[in-house]
Amino acid sequence: MEDLSRVYDELANRAIRSRADLENWLLDEAELDSYVYEQRTVRYINSTRQTDNRDFTRAYEEYTAGLEPRIKVLNFGLLKKYAASPFRTELPTAVFGQEDKRRMSAVSIFRPENVELEKEESALAQKYQRTAGAMTVNFRGQERTLQQMARFYEETDRAVREQAWRLADGRALADSEALDNIYDRMIGLRDHVARNAGFDNYRDYVFVKKDRFDYTPDDCLRFHEAVEQSFVPLSREIDKARGEKLDIDILRPWDLRVDPESRPPLSPFNDTAGLVGGAAKVVGQIDAQLSRFFSQMTELELLDLESRKGKAPGGYQEEFAEVKLPFIFMNAAKRDNDVRTLLHECGHSFHTFLMREKGLPYFNGGANIPTEFAEVASITMEIISGEHYRGAFYNEVDSRRSNWEEAVSNVKLFTWVATIDAFQHWAYTHPDHSHEERARAWVDTFSRFSGTESYEGLETSRAYRWQRQLHIFEVPFYYIEYGIALTGALGIWSHYRRDKRSAIDLYKGALSLGASKSLPQLFGAAGLNWDLGPGALRKFADELRVAIKEYAEGP
Ligand SMILES: [Zn+2]
Repeated sequence: MEDLSRVYDELANRAIRSRADLENWLLDEAELDSYVYEQRTVRYINSTRQTDNRDFTRAYEEYTAGLEPRIKVLNFGLLKKYAASPFRTELPTAVFGQEDKRRMSAVSIFRPENVELEKEESALAQKYQRTAGAMTVNFRGQERTLQQMARFYEETDRAVREQAWRLADGRALADSEALDNIYDRMIGLRDHVARNAGFDNYRDYVFVKKDRFDYTPDDCLRFHEAVEQSFVPLSREIDKARGEKLDIDILRPWDLRVDPESRPPLSPFNDTAGLVGGAAKVVGQIDAQLSRFFSQMTELELLDLESRKGKAPGGYQEEFAEVKLPFIFMNAAKRDNDVRTLLHECGHSFHTFLMREKGLPYFNGGANIPTEFAEVASITMEIISGEHYRGAFYNEVDSRRSNWEEAVSNVKLFTWVATIDAFQHWAYTHPDHSHEERARAWVDTFSRFSGTESYEGLETSRAYRWQRQLHIFEVPFYYIEYGIALTGALGIWSHYRRDKRSAIDLYKGALSLGASKSLPQLFGAAGLNWDLGPGALRKFADELRVAIKEYAEGP
């Protein structure tokens, strides 16, 4: 910290006497940021690769508890210096325009009195994490988390699915009141933060806080309506077909994950070498340059894919901001989902490589790429890669089945994004609601977008289903991004099926722009219309309906 302080102080005290001074100052700041962010990333990655290595966990804690809070304060000092500079408005907008917008917006909503409230908020988020993390059940002789129970919903024996579902659900319900109380306090705090910053409600505040320059709360409400019109009917058609194939009259919540033809799960590879080799083949068929990026990741050991003792759960893509190279972490379990996850994270990695080639400055450790577009990069790879699984992972039949599962899960994702987002719009614009009103609002929202499954006799479970979505507690309003990104990814997929070459060229061009352009410009560069309205969504739903039928029935 002492060494770092000297560099921060130099930046804080440096005289800026011209536009060129300011530009150099910004680039130096970006360089410092990249260095600091890379330190954080290295420590984070090490600690997740070996959770049982005390030195690694200590090094990461040293960063989060010791360095990060102090760096935040120093960064805010630099931000204020930037905002006060008269040369700000003379910077070339092609490189600095978006960054300037983000910085001025951050300055405009900063209130010193909110710092303490935000600390309380993150303490509550940790309390939610502890409560949810402690939820385990004993099933088939083993203690399992509720996430680990999910694989039993794929069991072809319906009684096993129901037993597993009820066990997990009962465990979650045991803490429903505690979670209700945590959420009350969160809503109160967040509302207070928003009012301190001069907003009527937290929702309007969050749109500024999250740099949503290109769409409004009303656009989100229209998006919900568009999902209701186009994707809810499609989702219910899928359920109907599922019920018929399974020979079940009324689907229940535990019938939604099993293969409708009661086949065992897909088996795309036997070991990590099989996963990497298959992915290399797939990427090779997509594009030569992307394929080189993927081999570089293998050669430089930027992949940690297999599950092993001592490794943290889950998967992510992180980026070493200083050297500008990506790293992929996951826990492969020989499932179809692992292939999609790897290709998804590859999409994020290609973003890093393409920005690196372009040489744009890295503000905030590169973390400024709007999520709505960062996820276009990843979801696109997740979806279009499915066109090439035959021969790399599957035979013809299994490849179609994998694509069917992906397409169906994307239909369901649209409806779930709308559910989670619409519920939060209601919650934060009615901050004084009671628990009963909240449950009613949730059930209304849930029913508006849900499939055909019946919750008869499970009304309480349905009323508390929102408590299982960690975003609602930990990262409020962070969810619509996936819906927006999915429209972009489907647009590129549609283009790719018609003209592979031009779709990929536009995709790569848009990724190379990094965070330097607005969302409509990034979408435009990828050959997409920036359109979240009913017309665009209907087109995607229609195309998915046809594809799902093809995948289910064959050519
Ligand atoms: Zn992602």
